[in-house]
Amino acid sequence: MEKEIHLLTQIMADAPAIRLFLDYDGTLAEFAPSPDTILQDPEVIALLERLVQAEGILPAVISGRRLAHIRKLLPVPGLLMGGTYGIEMQLPDEQYRAEVPFEQVRPTLERLLPLWGALIADREGFYLEDKGWSLALHGRFAVQEEAEAVMAAANQAALGLEPGASFRLLGGDRFLELAPLAASKTAAVQWVLEKMTPPDALPVYLGDDDKDEEAFETLLQAGGYAVRVSAAPTETRAQFRLEGPAQVRAWLGKVLAARGE
Ligand SMILES: [Mg+2]
Repeated sequence: MEKEIHLLTQIMADAPAIRLFLDYDGTLAEFAPSPDTILQDPEVIALLERLVQAEGILPAVISGRRLAHIRKLLPVPGLLMGGTYGIEMQLPDEQYRAEVPFEQVRPTLERLLPLWGALIADREGFYLEDKGWSLALHGRFAVQEEAEAVMAAANQAALGLEPGASFRLLGGDRFLELAPLAASKTAAVQWVLEKMTPPDALPVYLGDDDKDEEAFETLLQAGGYAVRVSAAPTETRAQFRLEGPAQVRAWLGKVLAARGE
């Protein structure tokens, strides 16, 4: 049952420290016209700067986008950033960390790239995103029937490569992604909680999509709080809800104010 968000504001005002997990697209910022668009949002950057500098707040942005994009979107010193669901991270001291070696992942994707490219050539409404660590096929603007047919064919093409147990195919009727199994927000959240979070810090996670929803489980087990970003009530593990990125930014401002920042 959804609770009033001001309850969480109060809990966070009183917490000695907070490990704050944030998704980017659809949570901090509105969706970009294409998943590859890098359009900085000065309001988001200013907010993250304030969060990094605030006493006792440890923000971490974990996104499905590649790390290089997140770094460009958020040029914020001291911010922990995770790209491709956290398989690669830039730590607050600017050290780089990868969960598995890139060379182990890339050859399979290189084989898939021309196959998926050929499937969507001359078709409207599709977009092939090479994230380095994963390949994503988007059909958000395609005609429904064509999207279904292309995604089914793309699925077959990926399985035909026999990518093995170290990969997983994620997706639905308008999205398909071949990514390493280790590219998991859940795994990233576990690692950050274990290695980068003081024991007295309260974990709080804001996210809008199914990868976030998966990771909420880990957060709740750690005694934390999850906020689902969604315009309407939806099935979720989260105890709280905010309607969209504008509400997320405004609310984080309130949390800062409540902590005297
Ligand atoms: Mg999102």
